[in-house]
Amino acid sequence: MEFEQQLEMMHEQFRELIGFVAKMTEENHSLQLENQHLRTRLEELSEKVQVIEEQVPLEKPRKMDIGEGVDNLARIYNEGYHVCNVHYGSSRKGEDCLFCLSFLSKQNS
Ligand SMILES: [Zn+2]
Repeated sequence: MEFEQQLEMMHEQFRELIGFVAKMTEENHSLQLENQHLRTRLEELSEKVQVIEEQVPLEKPRKMDIGEGVDNLARIYNEGYHVCNVHYGSSRKGEDCLFCLSFLSKQNS
């Protein structure tokens, strides 16, 4: 009779242990999922930060920005306006300006 009770108790403990292991396995699984999710999120955020860093002009502007700026100035000059410091924004009245040309050639180099 005593042996039977002991067996019953062991059986009960064994069931508890199985339940515990199942719970731990489930928890481990959900932690892995959460970990994976957080890693993905971190990578997304890192990429966004990188994109923002690329967009924000730092001390050195990107070459493309300079080129675009010079293109705009060259266009303004070709439309007949001064881009030089001396007469900036005023009409060239159809005449070439050495200040403008030297300014543009300096910017292009
Ligand atoms: Zn000029």
